[in-house]
Amino acid sequence: MKAAIFYGAGDIRVEDRPVPEIGSEEVLVRIKAAGICGSDLHRYRSAPKQTEGRMFGHEYSGQVVEIGGKIQDVSVGDRVGIEPLVGCGKCNYCLSGMYHLCSHLWHIPSFMEYQKFPRNKVFKLPDHISYEEASTLDCIAVAVHALNLSSLKGGETALVLGAGTIGLLTMQTAKAFGAGAVYETGTHDFQVRLAKELGADAVVNIKTENLLEKMKELTGKERARYFELEAPRGVDHVFEAVGGPKSPLEDALSVVRRGGTITAIGSPRNPVNLSSFVMREVRLIGSSSYAYSKSEPEFRIALNLLSAGKINAKELVTHTFPLDKIKYAFDVAADKEKWNSVKVIIRP
Ligand SMILES: [Zn+2]
Ligand SMILES: [Zn+2]
Repeated sequence: MKAAIFYGAGDIRVEDRPVPEIGSEEVLVRIKAAGICGSDLHRYRSAPKQTEGRMFGHEYSGQVVEIGGKIQDVSVGDRVGIEPLVGCGKCNYCLSGMYHLCSHLWHIPSFMEYQKFPRNKVFKLPDHISYEEASTLDCIAVAVHALNLSSLKGGETALVLGAGTIGLLTMQTAKAFGAGAVYETGTHDFQVRLAKELGADAVVNIKTENLLEKMKELTGKERARYFELEAPRGVDHVFEAVGGPKSPLEDALSVVRRGGTITAIGSPRNPVNLSSFVMREVRLIGSSSYAYSKSEPEFRIALNLLSAGKINAKELVTHTFPLDKIKYAFDVAADKEKWNSVKVIIRP
Protein backbone atom coordinates (compact mmCIF):
# COMPACT_ATOMS: atom_id res chain seq x y z
CA MET A 1 0.00 0.00 0.00
CA LYS A 2 0.98 3.65 -0.34
CA ALA A 3 1.95 5.56 2.81
CA ALA A 4 3.39 9.05 3.38
CA ILE A 5 6.66 9.06 5.33
CA PHE A 6 8.28 12.18 6.82
CA TYR A 7 12.03 12.61 6.48
CA GLY A 8 12.69 16.20 7.55
CA ALA A 9 11.43 19.78 7.28
CA GLY A 10 9.28 19.98 4.15
CA ASP A 11 10.33 16.48 3.11
CA ILE A 12 7.46 13.96 2.75
CA ARG A 13 7.70 10.99 0.43
CA VAL A 14 5.03 8.52 -0.61
CA GLU A 15 6.46 5.01 -0.31
CA ASP A 16 5.36 1.40 -0.39
CA ARG A 17 4.60 -0.25 2.95
CA PRO A 18 2.99 -3.60 3.85
CA VAL A 19 -0.72 -3.55 4.72
CA PRO A 20 -0.95 -3.97 8.53
CA GLU A 21 -1.98 -7.41 9.84
CA ILE A 22 -4.81 -7.33 12.36
CA GLY A 23 -5.18 -9.11 15.68
CA SER A 24 -8.39 -10.77 16.90
CA GLU A 25 -9.72 -7.56 18.47
CA GLU A 26 -8.72 -5.18 15.73
CA VAL A 27 -10.26 -3.95 12.49
CA LEU A 28 -8.54 -3.05 9.22
CA VAL A 29 -9.81 0.17 7.67
CA ARG A 30 -9.38 1.54 4.16
CA ILE A 31 -8.68 5.19 5.02
CA LYS A 32 -10.97 7.45 2.95
CA ALA A 33 -10.25 10.91 4.37
CA ALA A 34 -7.41 12.17 6.58
CA GLY A 35 -7.13 15.81 7.68
CA ILE A 36 -3.91 17.76 8.16
CA CYS A 37 -3.74 19.00 11.76
CA GLY A 38 -1.88 22.05 13.08
CA SER A 39 0.38 19.65 15.00
CA ASP A 40 1.27 17.84 11.74
CA LEU A 41 2.13 21.23 10.21
CA HIS A 42 4.29 22.11 13.20
CA ARG A 43 6.31 18.91 12.70
CA TYR A 44 6.39 19.45 8.94
CA ARG A 45 7.97 22.87 9.47
CA SER A 46 10.29 22.18 12.38
CA ALA A 47 10.96 18.46 11.83
CA PRO A 48 12.15 17.34 15.26
CA LYS A 49 14.78 14.58 14.92
CA GLN A 50 12.55 11.85 16.39
CA THR A 51 9.97 12.30 13.60
CA GLU A 52 12.36 11.14 10.85
CA GLY A 53 11.05 8.12 8.99
CA ARG A 54 7.72 8.36 10.82
CA MET A 55 4.13 8.59 9.62
CA PHE A 56 1.79 11.40 10.74
CA GLY A 57 -1.86 12.35 10.79
CA HIS A 58 -4.61 11.47 13.25
CA GLU A 59 -7.87 12.91 11.87
CA TYR A 60 -9.50 10.26 9.72
CA SER A 61 -12.43 8.14 8.65
CA GLY A 62 -12.77 5.13 6.40
CA GLN A 63 -14.42 1.83 5.55
CA VAL A 64 -13.89 -1.44 7.39
CA VAL A 65 -12.36 -4.09 5.08
CA GLU A 66 -11.44 -6.83 7.58
CA ILE A 67 -12.39 -7.69 11.17
CA GLY A 68 -10.62 -9.70 13.86
CA GLY A 69 -11.99 -13.10 14.93
CA LYS A 70 -13.40 -11.91 18.27
CA ILE A 71 -15.34 -8.94 16.86
CA GLN A 72 -19.11 -9.25 16.41
CA ASP A 73 -20.49 -5.72 16.41
CA VAL A 74 -18.60 -4.29 13.43
CA SER A 75 -18.93 -5.61 9.87
CA VAL A 76 -16.89 -5.45 6.71
CA GLY A 77 -18.26 -2.52 4.69
CA ASP A 78 -19.14 -0.35 7.72
CA ARG A 79 -18.30 3.32 7.32
CA VAL A 80 -16.52 4.52 10.45
CA GLY A 81 -15.16 7.58 12.21
CA ILE A 82 -11.97 6.72 14.09
CA GLU A 83 -10.57 7.94 17.39
CA PRO A 84 -6.76 8.09 17.05
CA LEU A 85 -5.74 8.25 20.73
CA VAL A 86 -4.22 5.23 22.45
CA GLY A 87 -2.82 5.15 25.99
CA CYS A 88 -0.78 2.39 27.65
CA GLY A 89 -3.94 0.89 29.16
CA LYS A 90 -2.20 0.14 32.47
CA CYS A 91 -1.41 3.39 34.31
CA ASN A 92 -3.72 5.17 36.77
CA TYR A 93 -4.76 7.69 34.11
CA CYS A 94 -5.72 4.99 31.62
CA LEU A 95 -7.53 2.92 34.25
CA SER A 96 -9.56 5.91 35.42
CA GLY A 97 -10.69 6.90 31.91
CA MET A 98 -8.25 9.80 31.58
CA TYR A 99 -6.05 8.10 29.00
CA HIS A 100 -5.51 11.45 27.24
CA LEU A 101 -3.12 12.25 30.13
CA CYS A 102 -1.22 8.95 29.87
CA SER A 103 2.52 9.58 29.56
CA HIS A 104 2.62 7.03 26.73
CA LEU A 105 -0.26 8.55 24.77
CA TRP A 106 0.20 8.24 21.03
CA HIS A 107 -1.80 8.80 17.85
CA ILE A 108 -2.30 6.00 15.34
CA PRO A 109 -1.12 7.63 12.07
CA SER A 110 -3.32 8.08 9.03
CA PHE A 111 -1.68 9.28 5.82
CA MET A 112 -1.80 5.85 4.19
CA GLU A 113 -4.24 3.58 2.36
CA TYR A 114 -4.90 1.06 5.16
CA GLN A 115 -4.56 1.17 8.92
CA LYS A 116 -5.54 -1.17 11.76
CA PHE A 117 -7.37 0.00 14.91
CA PRO A 118 -8.57 -1.51 18.19
CA ARG A 119 -12.31 -2.24 18.02
CA ASN A 120 -13.21 0.41 20.61
CA LYS A 121 -11.65 3.18 18.49
CA VAL A 122 -14.03 2.89 15.54
CA PHE A 123 -17.52 4.44 15.57
CA LYS A 124 -20.13 3.61 12.92
CA LEU A 125 -21.20 6.62 10.84
CA PRO A 126 -24.76 7.45 9.82
CA ASP A 127 -25.19 7.56 6.01
CA HIS A 128 -25.70 11.32 5.88
CA ILE A 129 -22.20 12.07 7.22
CA SER A 130 -19.51 12.15 4.54
CA TYR A 131 -16.00 10.79 5.05
CA GLU A 132 -14.62 14.35 4.86
CA GLU A 133 -16.97 15.57 7.60
CA ALA A 134 -16.22 12.51 9.73
CA SER A 135 -12.48 13.13 9.50
CA THR A 136 -13.02 16.28 11.62
CA LEU A 137 -14.53 14.29 14.53
CA ASP A 138 -11.18 14.32 16.33
CA CYS A 139 -11.22 18.15 16.20
CA ILE A 140 -14.87 18.33 17.31
CA ALA A 141 -14.02 16.05 20.25
CA VAL A 142 -11.22 18.46 21.21
CA ALA A 143 -13.81 21.25 21.31
CA VAL A 144 -16.27 19.09 23.30
CA HIS A 145 -13.54 18.37 25.89
CA ALA A 146 -12.70 22.08 26.22
CA LEU A 147 -16.37 22.93 26.74
CA ASN A 148 -16.75 20.17 29.32
CA LEU A 149 -13.71 21.42 31.26
CA SER A 150 -14.89 25.04 31.15
CA SER A 151 -18.18 24.10 32.88
CA LEU A 152 -19.96 26.66 30.69
CA LYS A 153 -23.58 27.02 31.77
CA GLY A 154 -26.54 27.78 29.49
CA GLY A 155 -26.84 31.45 28.60
CA GLU A 156 -23.26 32.38 29.50
CA THR A 157 -21.18 34.41 27.07
CA ALA A 158 -17.98 33.23 25.41
CA LEU A 159 -15.17 34.54 23.26
CA VAL A 160 -13.16 32.15 21.10
CA LEU A 161 -9.70 33.44 20.20
CA GLY A 162 -8.73 32.05 16.79
CA ALA A 163 -10.75 31.01 13.75
CA GLY A 164 -8.83 27.99 12.49
CA THR A 165 -10.51 24.57 12.52
CA ILE A 166 -10.42 24.21 16.32
CA GLY A 167 -11.56 27.80 16.92
CA LEU A 168 -14.49 27.53 14.51
CA LEU A 169 -15.53 24.18 15.96
CA THR A 170 -15.22 25.47 19.55
CA MET A 171 -17.47 28.42 18.67
CA GLN A 172 -20.11 26.08 17.22
CA THR A 173 -19.78 23.62 20.10
CA ALA A 174 -20.21 26.44 22.64
CA LYS A 175 -23.49 27.30 20.93
CA ALA A 176 -24.52 23.64 20.92
CA PHE A 177 -23.78 23.54 24.67
CA GLY A 178 -26.25 26.39 25.19
CA ALA A 179 -23.98 29.44 25.39
CA GLY A 180 -25.67 32.84 24.93
CA ALA A 181 -23.64 35.14 22.72
CA VAL A 182 -20.44 33.60 21.33
CA TYR A 183 -17.83 35.93 19.83
CA GLU A 184 -14.73 35.00 17.87
CA THR A 185 -11.49 36.56 16.67
CA GLY A 186 -9.83 35.91 13.31
CA THR A 187 -6.75 37.18 11.50
CA HIS A 188 -7.75 36.69 7.86
CA ASP A 189 -10.82 38.08 6.07
CA PHE A 190 -11.93 34.64 4.93
CA GLN A 191 -11.83 33.39 8.55
CA VAL A 192 -13.99 36.31 9.66
CA ARG A 193 -16.51 35.61 6.89
CA LEU A 194 -16.60 31.91 7.74
CA ALA A 195 -17.01 32.50 11.48
CA LYS A 196 -20.01 34.76 10.80
CA GLU A 197 -21.50 32.26 8.37
CA LEU A 198 -21.15 29.48 10.95
CA GLY A 199 -23.03 31.44 13.59
CA ALA A 200 -20.64 33.60 15.64
CA ASP A 201 -22.59 36.53 17.12
CA ALA A 202 -19.73 38.92 16.37
CA VAL A 203 -16.29 38.43 14.85
CA VAL A 204 -13.31 40.69 15.55
CA ASN A 205 -10.63 40.92 12.88
CA ILE A 206 -7.63 41.49 15.12
CA LYS A 207 -5.55 42.71 12.19
CA THR A 208 -7.80 45.70 11.59
CA GLU A 209 -9.78 46.08 14.83
CA ASN A 210 -8.87 46.65 18.47
CA LEU A 211 -10.04 43.71 20.58
CA LEU A 212 -10.43 45.70 23.84
CA GLU A 213 -12.50 48.42 22.17
CA LYS A 214 -14.63 45.85 20.42
CA MET A 215 -15.22 43.93 23.68
CA LYS A 216 -16.27 47.17 25.39
CA GLU A 217 -18.90 47.57 22.68
CA LEU A 218 -20.04 43.97 22.97
CA THR A 219 -20.00 43.42 26.76
CA GLY A 220 -20.27 46.95 28.12
CA LYS A 221 -17.55 48.88 29.94
CA GLU A 222 -16.68 49.67 33.53
CA ARG A 223 -14.20 51.79 35.42
CA ALA A 224 -12.43 50.50 38.52
CA ARG A 225 -12.35 52.79 41.57
CA TYR A 226 -8.78 53.98 41.27
CA PHE A 227 -8.23 53.67 37.56
CA GLU A 228 -8.71 56.23 34.86
CA LEU A 229 -9.14 53.71 32.09
CA GLU A 230 -12.34 52.00 31.19
CA ALA A 231 -12.18 48.24 30.73
CA PRO A 232 -14.61 45.83 29.07
CA ARG A 233 -16.94 44.05 31.50
CA GLY A 234 -15.82 40.92 29.77
CA VAL A 235 -17.23 37.54 28.83
CA ASP A 236 -17.84 34.58 31.16
CA HIS A 237 -15.56 32.26 29.18
CA VAL A 238 -12.60 32.70 26.87
CA PHE A 239 -11.31 29.81 24.77
CA GLU A 240 -7.78 30.20 23.43
CA ALA A 241 -7.37 28.35 20.12
CA VAL A 242 -4.29 29.97 18.62
CA GLY A 243 -1.21 28.69 20.47
CA GLY A 244 2.39 29.22 19.44
CA PRO A 245 4.60 32.28 20.00
CA LYS A 246 1.76 34.71 19.17
CA SER A 247 -0.79 33.21 21.52
CA PRO A 248 -3.24 35.89 22.74
CA LEU A 249 -3.41 34.48 26.28
CA GLU A 250 -2.64 37.89 27.77
CA ASP A 251 -5.49 39.44 25.74
CA ALA A 252 -7.71 36.73 27.19
CA LEU A 253 -7.01 38.07 30.69
CA SER A 254 -8.18 41.56 29.68
CA VAL A 255 -11.45 40.45 28.14
CA VAL A 256 -12.65 37.79 30.60
CA ARG A 257 -14.87 38.96 33.47
CA ARG A 258 -13.71 38.70 37.09
CA GLY A 259 -14.24 35.13 38.25
CA GLY A 260 -14.52 33.93 34.64
CA THR A 261 -12.61 31.11 32.98
CA ILE A 262 -9.96 30.93 30.30
CA THR A 263 -9.61 27.54 28.66
CA ALA A 264 -6.37 27.17 26.69
CA ILE A 265 -6.70 24.69 23.82
CA GLY A 266 -3.74 25.91 21.75
CA SER A 267 -0.19 25.55 23.06
CA PRO A 268 0.92 29.10 24.00
CA ARG A 269 4.71 29.30 23.74
CA ASN A 270 5.09 32.96 24.71
CA PRO A 271 5.77 34.41 28.18
CA VAL A 272 2.55 35.72 29.78
CA ASN A 273 2.17 38.08 32.74
CA LEU A 274 -0.40 36.38 34.95
CA SER A 275 -0.66 39.05 37.68
CA SER A 276 -4.24 40.11 36.92
CA PHE A 277 -5.25 36.47 36.91
CA VAL A 278 -4.84 36.31 40.73
CA MET A 279 -6.54 39.61 41.58
CA ARG A 280 -9.42 38.88 39.27
CA GLU A 281 -9.78 35.25 40.34
CA VAL A 282 -9.77 33.99 36.79
CA ARG A 283 -9.70 30.22 36.38
CA LEU A 284 -7.11 29.17 33.85
CA ILE A 285 -7.70 25.67 32.45
CA GLY A 286 -5.47 23.65 30.15
CA SER A 287 -7.35 21.43 27.71
CA SER A 288 -5.60 18.69 25.75
CA SER A 289 -7.20 16.12 23.45
CA TYR A 290 -10.22 14.38 24.98
CA ALA A 291 -11.32 11.14 26.59
CA TYR A 292 -14.55 10.62 28.56
CA SER A 293 -17.22 12.93 29.93
CA LYS A 294 -18.61 10.99 32.88
CA SER A 295 -18.70 7.56 31.22
CA GLU A 296 -19.43 8.69 27.67
CA PRO A 297 -16.59 8.93 25.11
CA GLU A 298 -16.24 12.57 24.07
CA PHE A 299 -15.65 11.28 20.53
CA ARG A 300 -19.19 9.81 20.67
CA ILE A 301 -20.59 13.18 21.88
CA ALA A 302 -18.81 14.82 18.93
CA LEU A 303 -20.37 12.32 16.53
CA ASN A 304 -23.83 12.96 17.99
CA LEU A 305 -23.44 16.75 17.56
CA LEU A 306 -22.26 16.33 13.96
CA SER A 307 -25.01 13.84 13.18
CA ALA A 308 -27.71 16.10 14.63
CA GLY A 309 -26.56 18.99 12.44
CA LYS A 310 -25.47 21.09 15.43
CA ILE A 311 -21.96 21.34 14.00
CA ASN A 312 -21.23 22.33 10.42
CA ALA A 313 -17.96 20.63 9.47
CA LYS A 314 -18.59 20.69 5.71
CA GLU A 315 -17.79 24.39 5.38
CA LEU A 316 -14.44 23.92 7.12
CA VAL A 317 -13.10 21.56 4.45
CA THR A 318 -11.56 23.96 1.94
CA HIS A 319 -9.23 21.61 0.01
CA THR A 320 -8.88 17.88 -0.74
CA PHE A 321 -5.89 16.16 -2.38
CA PRO A 322 -4.91 12.59 -3.27
CA LEU A 323 -2.08 10.98 -1.26
CA ASP A 324 0.42 11.52 -4.10
CA LYS A 325 -0.03 15.28 -3.70
CA ILE A 326 0.52 15.29 0.07
CA LYS A 327 3.51 17.61 -0.05
CA TYR A 328 1.53 20.16 -2.03
CA ALA A 329 -1.38 19.68 0.40
CA PHE A 330 0.88 20.50 3.36
CA ASP A 331 2.05 23.68 1.62
CA VAL A 332 -1.57 24.72 1.04
CA ALA A 333 -2.43 24.04 4.70
CA ALA A 334 0.66 25.93 5.87
CA ASP A 335 -0.07 29.14 3.98
CA LYS A 336 -3.59 30.07 5.10
CA GLU A 337 -3.38 33.61 3.76
CA LYS A 338 -2.41 32.60 0.23
CA TRP A 339 -4.85 29.70 -0.15
CA ASN A 340 -7.68 30.70 2.26
CA SER A 341 -7.27 27.22 3.70
CA VAL A 342 -8.97 25.95 6.84
CA LYS A 343 -9.08 22.15 6.84
CA VAL A 344 -7.05 20.43 4.14
CA ILE A 345 -7.86 16.76 3.62
CA ILE A 346 -5.95 13.91 2.00
CA ARG A 347 -7.97 11.18 0.28
CA PRO A 348 -5.50 8.25 0.32
ZN1 LIG B 1 -5.17 17.25 15.52
ZN1 LIG C 1 -1.51 4.93 30.47
